Amino acid sequence: MKIAAPRMAKLDSILPDSPRLLMGAGPVPIPAEVANANGRVINHLGHPMNAITSSLQEMGKYIFQTSSSKIFGISGPASAAMEMAMSSLLWEGRSVLVLNLGTFSNRFAEQAKAVKAEVTELFPKHHMRAFTLSEVCEQLDNKHFDVLTIVQGETSCGVKNIELEQIAKYASAMGVLVVVDAVSTLTTMPLEMDLWGIDVVFTGGQKGLSSVAGVSMIAFSERAYKVVKERTVINSHWCLDPIKANEFWCNKNYHYTAPVSGLLALYEALRLIVEETLEARFKRHLDCSQGLQHCLVAMGLDLYAPVECRLNSVVAIEVPEKIDSKQLLKLMSEKYGVEISGAFGANIVRIGQMGEQCRPENIEKTVGALAKALAELGFSKAKDTFAA
Ligand SMILES: *Cc1c(COP(=O)(O)O)cnc(C)c1O
Repeated sequence: MKIAAPRMAKLDSILPDSPRLLMGAGPVPIPAEVANANGRVINHLGHPMNAITSSLQEMGKYIFQTSSSKIFGISGPASAAMEMAMSSLLWEGRSVLVLNLGTFSNRFAEQAKAVKAEVTELFPKHHMRAFTLSEVCEQLDNKHFDVLTIVQGETSCGVKNIELEQIAKYASAMGVLVVVDAVSTLTTMPLEMDLWGIDVVFTGGQKGLSSVAGVSMIAFSERAYKVVKERTVINSHWCLDPIKANEFWCNKNYHYTAPVSGLLALYEALRLIVEETLEARFKRHLDCSQGLQHCLVAMGLDLYAPVECRLNSVVAIEVPEKIDSKQLLKLMSEKYGVEISGAFGANIVRIGQMGEQCRPENIEKTVGALAKALAELGFSKAKDTFAA
């Protein structure tokens, strides 16, 4: 039987008339330079691609704060970068301690199990709190682990691991390879790969970097790369094998066809970050996020994570009683043109504060949209205060 050609609508008739402001947990708005770069195609081998990959590595050293040369781009989501780390450092007979705070930290455990590693999951003593060094020490002092995984910011619930530096330094000194998920946080707040003893750190394009989705970045310390190089158990991942990625990124040979447009977009995104400098970028993010949090509290809303471990790059807000979060998101998006995120479990909505999201005009528009939508759904701060 022949399948007849379907009749398809033009793209413009599918997309909203005016673009929505993406203020959720990612993807985030991209600068014009990034969008332009993403529209170009060049050869995936030879000059100028070699100049692009070398520059991406040089800028990668800056954003990860590492002198390691083992920095690779990955054609895939941030989860693919995570998978490159887990599948190359773990196999049957190796062990990992997973610090599990929620959806994304849990993904580490799933990927480790998939390559038959022995997985120990640690959950925080206090619900919704960051891991403390002492909780982690209890585990590390009792048993040897080959790898420890930790997320800098658990985007799913808006909690930040505030003792990441101490935990990484402690584990690293014990010879444990430390793998950090900095997907929602890199370039929005400090992270020092070398100084903190981090062995692998990765991020996606569509969050803090304000680039396009589908191209990610990862850095391996020399120590971690050596483990991968010396493993005798065959790596079950071909696309995500760091040794093969190294061929393209360091030796400029073919591995698979690189996502050329996405790499050009990433080049522009990183160039803008380098131009802004990390210090200025951290300050912009902190100021913007704290400004937003002030507005939300002033509106009478409760923020989900306690202030001491609150993640500034994605702010989780408790949905007020009697408000339906689905209705709220729909109203904000369709009537006011601002998209924010729901959540996977808890009754929260989340506002992203990553990269281009952290611009005063975007915060203003988002707070305005949220206030108007909430009012239309019957929420009023005055009423609540009166009732209490
Ligand atoms: C978004 C996110 C991921 C997953 O990123 P994908 O690009 O969807 O694979 C992983 N970890 C954290 C902390 C995230 O915020």
